[in-house]
Amino acid sequence: MFTEACRYMPGGVNSPVRAFKAVGGQPVFISRGNGATLYDVDGNQYIDYVLSWGPLILGHRHPAVMAALQECLETGTSFGAPTELETELARTIVAAVPSVEMVRLVNSGTEATMSALRLARGYTGRNKIVKFEGCYHGHADFLLIKAGSGALTLGVPSSPGVPPATAATTITAPYNDLDTLEQIFAREGEDIAAVIVEPVAGNMGVVPPRKGFLAGLREITRRYGALLIFDEVMTGFRVAYGGAQELYNIDPDLTCLGKIIGGGLPVGAYGGKGVIMERVAPAGPVYQAGTLSGNPLAVSAGLATLQVLKQPGTYAELERKSALLERGLRETAREAGVPVTFNRVGSMLCAFFTDRPVEDYASACTSDTTRFAAFFRSMLEQGIYLAPSQFEAAFLSLAHTDEHIARTVEAARKAFAVAGS
Ligand code: PMP
Repeated sequence: MFTEACRYMPGGVNSPVRAFKAVGGQPVFISRGNGATLYDVDGNQYIDYVLSWGPLILGHRHPAVMAALQECLETGTSFGAPTELETELARTIVAAVPSVEMVRLVNSGTEATMSALRLARGYTGRNKIVKFEGCYHGHADFLLIKAGSGALTLGVPSSPGVPPATAATTITAPYNDLDTLEQIFAREGEDIAAVIVEPVAGNMGVVPPRKGFLAGLREITRRYGALLIFDEVMTGFRVAYGGAQELYNIDPDLTCLGKIIGGGLPVGAYGGKGVIMERVAPAGPVYQAGTLSGNPLAVSAGLATLQVLKQPGTYAELERKSALLERGLRETAREAGVPVTFNRVGSMLCAFFTDRPVEDYASACTSDTTRFAAFFRSMLEQGIYLAPSQFEAAFLSLAHTDEHIARTVEAARKAFAVAGS
């Protein structure tokens, strides 16, 4: 199947990290998923820690999501005209995410960040933006500079095809380093429209913000009249119902969302303060549009997902299971004598094959990716499906049971031994 796929699609895939380039071998072709389990076309089963790269926080085919989709299908798939469901999802997001007063739905995380930055530039009348090394905000030209995820894995920190003039509007700074940011603002703060950040970085592996880092971003941007944009495409409804901004109590100007709010269907959103969002067309002059934006199927799946997540105890349960997994992995790595640094925020987790703390892109790069590849392959052989790169997060869902976690820890015992040998 992969050989045939490679004849018709570049690298045989529709998104680079799927191709297993960083770990060797060929990607697994999936036939179906159920709960926390993935099934491949050869009849193998896996416990899934990728979860479609984050959206499936309820697991595959959750009954509430399936029912919402089936009901929606009876009415049609797209109208390109307002539906009440869109308001309901917007209202749910506004109620959940502390800083968001108005929201615009789009079709991917890439669209969300790209549009939020156009808005920030339109609103401030400034051109430059600041992003952090190792953070990934989708593949818009001006954000594909020192980016994480597949861009990091494949060693394409800035891609051919990004015009130098476009790249010149993006300033990069090390994650978790307020001093450098302070210097950047002292030099060209009057020209900076916005700082965009993953409030918990998840695209260079998982790198939590240092104490005071996010508050420092808020203070510096406010002082210079630049906007603070939280890219919560991954962390939104993941690290807490209200996202990282709820967890760390920070008030960004704009927030980007995606993944979970579409329940496994293509979606994205950007939102924030009313005075800023009122600048978006047709209310204001900053143009942004979409044929399928607010698509009824995506909106239905997203709403159903958020309704389940809103139940009391959900995030406590995700935390309990994730802590259980982390503890088990720590112990097995220690037993195997393999130096591993674990970073975890809620149900986002990463094991770096290094003995150093990982707090930014440079320290993430100290991890031994050959060891990671050996670990990954051993886990896959034992039926544990991880992201095929060191520089990605593992996710848990509500469908993961203690038994799944115990099996994963047992597999890791062998995999760490293999990686250490
Ligand atoms: N921002 C972040 C933080 C992401 O993790 C991602 C995707 N992994 C994106 C933006 C881009 O989203 P999409 O792939 O839906 O375009």
